[in-house]
Amino acid sequence: MSTLDRLNVTLQADSRLAALYKKGFPLIEQELVDQAEEPLQEGDLVTIEDERGEFVAKGYYGQQNKGRGWVLSTKKQEEINASLFMQRIQKAVAMRGQLFADEQTNAFRLFNGEGDGIGGITIDFYAEYGVITYYSEGIYSMKEWVMEAVERTYPFIGIYEKKRFANKGTYVEDDDFVSGEEAPEPLAILENGISYAVYLNDGPMTGIFLDQREVRKRIHEHYAKGKTVLNTFSYTGAFSVAAATGGASETTSVDLASRSKERTIEQFQMNEVDPEEQRIHVMDVFDYFKYAQKKSLAFDLVVLDPPSFARSKKQTFSVAKDYPSLLSQAIAITEENGVIVASTNNSVLGMRKFKTFVEQAFKSQKVDYTILEEFTVPVDYPYLNQYKESNYLKVLFIQRED
Ligand code: SAH
Repeated sequence: MSTLDRLNVTLQADSRLAALYKKGFPLIEQELVDQAEEPLQEGDLVTIEDERGEFVAKGYYGQQNKGRGWVLSTKKQEEINASLFMQRIQKAVAMRGQLFADEQTNAFRLFNGEGDGIGGITIDFYAEYGVITYYSEGIYSMKEWVMEAVERTYPFIGIYEKKRFANKGTYVEDDDFVSGEEAPEPLAILENGISYAVYLNDGPMTGIFLDQREVRKRIHEHYAKGKTVLNTFSYTGAFSVAAATGGASETTSVDLASRSKERTIEQFQMNEVDPEEQRIHVMDVFDYFKYAQKKSLAFDLVVLDPPSFARSKKQTFSVAKDYPSLLSQAIAITEENGVIVASTNNSVLGMRKFKTFVEQAFKSQKVDYTILEEFTVPVDYPYLNQYKESNYLKVLFIQRED
């Protein structure tokens, strides 16, 4: 859509919604969109008024899994334009000074959607390359503002974009390279002194989840030395690499994606860890649990980081329904006094509920436990108190008490 087609539509919020928006709630709700006389188009600007016709907030329309767009300002005079995008993106970059200065780390989130003032978009920094992810066609229609701001804010070697707005928020398959120079494949990034291989032009994901930085660091520094480590849902083996370089006696990585094996081998090699001395299994985690129990295997440290929802040949897994049973099976193959790192990125599941899953699982196994530490999103993933769902990450380090 060109900017000329962009309408500015006024919507009336009832008193409940108006009060929420006045307090800084960022999500445009379906209920509000239903007020429009004509269907809204992706990228239309939206002005929200209360029942007395007083200005409340403004934003844009863009369909996502969550919500129908985002509030961008609660100031009547503030225009939604290139300069607002410039301001917000510059501020986000300025706030990450400490991460830029950290010589051991060159990959982190540079702009975190609504937490940095523009919902529907994130920008990640990967060793001087930028990856911009757009979560709706609406925000993608403002791409020129985004690109201008990004290019003027930081001298990236090259920029990539991910379009996550096909059906139900899935990725639009495309060449993601946008400008500058293309990155090597893989691109080596550094995180707390450990190297990871990322691919910036290979589908929706790059090979590393940057929000687990602190968790990898903690495992590397405090939990791995001399331990046997099982990393389930291991993807490219990032937790295994953190553990192996932290002195783990052996790591075992389990993931059913066949590519996970070569990617995990590559990550070990980048850190001068001999992959031959590590175990990598391409298989269903639930089958692995059965196998491990049959063989009476047990590990000192077990990492559980499943996707929120997954379908394999045999079953569907959903965190909300199956986490307790997943944990129970993990407890059964954790050594006495061993530690389980239980993680979920399910935004609907709060920390309190997650802890009830832990309670349930340990009770069912008749094992006592202590929660040693908990982690949520790191500093480069700021979120709004008015919208707690954006603090989606929950990680618990749980020790068996035997
Ligand atoms: N823990 C990883 C990220 C996990 S992403 C990290 O920190 O990098 C989720 C992974 O789970 C994907 O790689 C997917 O292939 C894998 N997966 C999904 N269902 C699975 C199952 N039933 N058994 C094994 N792996 C599974």
